[in-house]
Amino acid sequence: MLYQRSSQLFAEAEKVIPGGVNSPVRAFKSVGGTPIYVKEAKGAYLYDEDGNRLIDYINSWGPMILGHAYQPVVDAVVEKAKLGTSFGMPTEIETQIAALAVSMVPNVDKIRFVNSGTEACMSAVRLARGFTKREKIIKFKGCYHGHSDSFLIQAGSGAVTFGSPNSPGVTQGTAKDTLLATYNDLENVKMILESNPGEVAAIIIEPVAGNMGCIPPQEGFLQGLRSLCDEHGTLLIFDEVMTGFRLARGGAQELFGVNADLVTFGKVIGGGLPVGAFAGRAEIMDYLAPVGPVYQAGTLSGNPLAMAAGLTMLQEIERDKNLFKRLDEKTAYLEKGIRKVLEEKQVPFTINKIGSMISVFFDIREVVDFDTAGYGNNETFKKFFHGLLANGVYIAPSSYETWFITDALTYDDLDFTIGAVDKVFS
Ligand SMILES: *Cc1c(COP(=O)(O)O)cnc(C)c1O
Repeated sequence: MLYQRSSQLFAEAEKVIPGGVNSPVRAFKSVGGTPIYVKEAKGAYLYDEDGNRLIDYINSWGPMILGHAYQPVVDAVVEKAKLGTSFGMPTEIETQIAALAVSMVPNVDKIRFVNSGTEACMSAVRLARGFTKREKIIKFKGCYHGHSDSFLIQAGSGAVTFGSPNSPGVTQGTAKDTLLATYNDLENVKMILESNPGEVAAIIIEPVAGNMGCIPPQEGFLQGLRSLCDEHGTLLIFDEVMTGFRLARGGAQELFGVNADLVTFGKVIGGGLPVGAFAGRAEIMDYLAPVGPVYQAGTLSGNPLAMAAGLTMLQEIERDKNLFKRLDEKTAYLEKGIRKVLEEKQVPFTINKIGSMISVFFDIREVVDFDTAGYGNNETFKKFFHGLLANGVYIAPSSYETWFITDALTYDDLDFTIGAVDKVFS
């Protein structure tokens, strides 16, 4: 494939945008090479600036669960735009999407809309701190909750459980309030809670981790967190920015039958426009301004175009009773096909999969947390990525990312993808 125009565009971008991109993973740093520039997309396909067609397994990192340029969403946005694009005043559509979201998600009474997953998680943590009058939070190594300061924390040295900044610009003061735990390790969480009695406002977690590859929670893990939170007066925050409206209508809460105290959303809920949201029971949500004391605001929050895209997306998901079953079946088909090829070619691998999220790790060992996810971050992955790309299949340019299956994928597309995997290892 030819990437001449993409390379030129990237060179021009590098002059005026740091690293040429507005979000680092797009720059291909962990796989080498230069990024592909998209010209347009429809259904399961991307068309790049050099005229190549690629089957897309990133899908804007999740939102395009029904495929690109999904007609009802496009129409809704176009129609709304004609009526004005932003007012900074209440509009009826905000209540419509809120009511629908609250009816689809278990255990939440109220929801507030923001502009990104980052904002949603940042705001949920502030609310949890305000509500509990405690300052510390627990997050899990390898889970991503956006780029706000409290989450850009890595493991501290030695025996200390509090983290240290993993980006310059994040202060030690902020880092000391974020305690780091190991995913799927309940004993570790218990120990951290017991050594910080009465101090932990919230545990925030991706109920299915999707930002260190796909790592589902082990049996009893989420239930265990729920019990520990109840015992310690700590709020449980499910970051469902990735899993919300993807794993089930009601997200991971519904799938696993575990109630969180606060839930954050992004990606699918915006139908491809910049939307985030956080939701919970009324007693907690009413702690927000203007009724409560915890401040949170946004000039473009609840923007009519974004709400139109999100509302249409949720309506489609709500209407289509077989959507999640179809997505499951397509993902299972893809997994089976890839598994067969890799076994035949004697490539060491592990595949993690749940619903429409799937990851291939190039190591035979089980992947259950951040450390084990690192096993598959190797030369084989780079070869796999570039090989698939050369064969018309676009997966995320990092071994720490999940593939997202869209309903627009046909079984022919899946067969094409499995064929591409076969070519890469032949
Ligand atoms: C993508 C993501 C975020 C951040 O959302 P942005 O819209 O990129 O700010 C937060 N949490 C999870 C689980 C995500 O996958």
